[in-house]
Amino acid sequence: MGYQKPKGTADILPGESDQWQLVEKTARDVFARYQFKEIRTPLFESYDVFSRSSGDTSDIVSKEMYDFMDKGDRHIALRPEGTAGVVRAFVENKLYGPEHQKPYKVYYMGPMFRYERPQSGRQRQFHQIGVESFGSESPAVDVEVISMAMRLLREFKITDLKLAINTLGDAASRAAYHEALVNYLEPHFDELSDDSKVRLHKNPLRVLDSKDAKDQEIVKDAPVILDYLTDEAKVHFNTVKTLLESLNIPYEVDTEMVRGLDYYNHTIFEIMTNNKVLGRGYTTVLAGGRYNGLVEQLGGPDMPGVGFALGVERLLLLMNAQNSDLVAAPVLDAYVVGIGAETSAITLHLVESLREAGLTADRDYLDRKPKAQFKTANKLNAQFVVTIGESELADKTAHVKDMTSGVEITVPLTMLEADFAAVKNELKAQEENA
Ligand code: ATP
Ligand code: MG
Repeated sequence: MGYQKPKGTADILPGESDQWQLVEKTARDVFARYQFKEIRTPLFESYDVFSRSSGDTSDIVSKEMYDFMDKGDRHIALRPEGTAGVVRAFVENKLYGPEHQKPYKVYYMGPMFRYERPQSGRQRQFHQIGVESFGSESPAVDVEVISMAMRLLREFKITDLKLAINTLGDAASRAAYHEALVNYLEPHFDELSDDSKVRLHKNPLRVLDSKDAKDQEIVKDAPVILDYLTDEAKVHFNTVKTLLESLNIPYEVDTEMVRGLDYYNHTIFEIMTNNKVLGRGYTTVLAGGRYNGLVEQLGGPDMPGVGFALGVERLLLLMNAQNSDLVAAPVLDAYVVGIGAETSAITLHLVESLREAGLTADRDYLDRKPKAQFKTANKLNAQFVVTIGESELADKTAHVKDMTSGVEITVPLTMLEADFAAVKNELKAQEENA
């Protein structure tokens, strides 16, 4: 009997992980330009952290959470998303204090867990790269975060993206819209899906997000939030749009977009693609928004926030589909071929010296014949092949071949171990004389 990974999970194997590292490094570089610093929070939290923040009627909390009672009878959940844990840490560590710069800007990357039906770009353990910016209500921060998201995707050479934005307004806008929506939906009560029947009074906005075809038909003619915004909320949204235009960032306003989490208000946004690798129609790669009440809801002061999360698996599917494979073929600086068992101590010493000097180096450990070792050197794309045989062993020398130019020289082992740059210079000189 063999073991298999749990449904909806994936092994990221050597080779693939090179691309993951590149994605993570690129994200770190972009975030550094914007002065975002990394935060690392636990992979599990008290269940309440998520139910309080995402909302009991959200799909994430009601259907997708991996939760359990631990041996100490605590209700624990594997994190389904990053923001709630970051906000919990922000509050618990009093990062809102006057000694901290505002906005307080952080990013995170790592696995998230949701019990969903696995398909292309949808797993049960998946990875997000996300950011949060706390402490400013300025619409310029919404736009800075959106611009950073667009820049990040540009760095990955992803094209054909669509930025959709909407506003959920402030509390007063929400209350007015809530009422209008309930008034509109109530006459359709019997036609709604069972889920939406429950949501209608608990959280009518959630009905807008329903994936049920019949619900979507009804929702098409529902009132739109833009008609219920307070003046303040209108100004915020209009400023966001103006600032996006001033940065030449194209966008579409999507009045039906509500996002799957309850904590959002004012600006919400999604970056989508219609690339076939992610299924039919438009799929969201990156999503975020403003969440001005969330810090307070998790026990902190009244402090605004805005952020986004990028799905790494979806990003990689897109990168590979668009051939924007940015990972350079790995190069091995030196492969050391040893001929005869008695060279083993010397070749081990040599690869270690080369590594000490900062080079990538390797040798054979399976007592293979020279021919097989040379073959390996080629396969590993070695820049230099160093050979030590009987005569080199006796002379305390090594034979070095530059695989690009084909130039070969024999040098003292001490020179090779102490000054690889000098060896390279000599190879170069030979090449120029030839
Ligand atoms: P969807 O509508 O596709 O379920 P969502 O609204 O639940 O997405 P968010 O909670 O906004 O997604 O998460 C942000 C991003 O994380 C998504 O745009 C997507 O790229 C990624 N993501 C979310 N859930 C999954 C999953 N189960 N597997 C892989 N990536 C995911
Ligand atoms: Mg989802």
